[in-house]
Amino acid sequence: MSWRATILTLYPEMFPGHLGQSLAGRALTDGIWAVDAVNIRDFATDRHRTVDDTPAGGGPGMVLKADVVTAALDSVADGRPVLAMTPRGRPLTQTRVRQLAAGPGAIILCGRFEGFDERIFHRRAIEEVSIGDYVLSGGEVAALVVMDACVRLLPGVMGAASSGIEESHESGLLEHPHYTRPPEWEGLAIPEVLRSGDHARIARWRREQSEADTRSRRPDLWDHHGDGRIQSPSGARRQKKEE
Ligand code: SAH
Repeated sequence: MSWRATILTLYPEMFPGHLGQSLAGRALTDGIWAVDAVNIRDFATDRHRTVDDTPAGGGPGMVLKADVVTAALDSVADGRPVLAMTPRGRPLTQTRVRQLAAGPGAIILCGRFEGFDERIFHRRAIEEVSIGDYVLSGGEVAALVVMDACVRLLPGVMGAASSGIEESHESGLLEHPHYTRPPEWEGLAIPEVLRSGDHARIARWRREQSEADTRSRRPDLWDHHGDGRIQSPSGARRQKKEE
């Protein structure tokens, strides 16, 4: 059984979108994963196929109706985790992505307008997920982000099996920087250590870069990364250099 995403959206034609290309696209063709998009509007009950209504209490915009959204959701619910894309949700992490990728797939609700009637979250088991602290016009791109992150982890999707493990965020650190030929470009040389062929030295250098970059670029990650590290030999050396 392949990993399967079911998307509930007002714009089903947006799927598989960019995931129909490149590695994810090939994996889709190969049947490693599957996506079906369900139009929420098909579950409207009135003549005008209404999916939204004005916000209770007044204010701008429209709110997706609880009855229509849950009718769509109930029609596909099968035990897979149900995610609703919303900037009010818990920020997506690589840890959660790994869990989702290891499961049977996901059902993903895409909002539009002002979002969903809050009561759906009280009556259905729905995980509210945000992809970051900014506001999109709809949940479709956010759903593609979730799927992209999961699909690349599925067995057989990425070329080198190891390349998933050393990435940024997998270890709680940013990954080290990368270089490729030519050895010199616009007066900049590839760091000598990377051309040394000394694999132990290279590994140590990469670890140091990874720690230094996390510390300077993402102090929030560094803090969560845990104590101890900052006292490590490389950490201590680096601290000296920066002072
Ligand atoms: N009024 C809402 C924003 C609605 S944006 C609020 O302020 O919380 C319209 C839709 O875009 C949302 O329902 C959601 O599905 C999607 N969306 C917007 N920003 C998002 C984000 N950061 N993460 C995930 N989904 C998002």
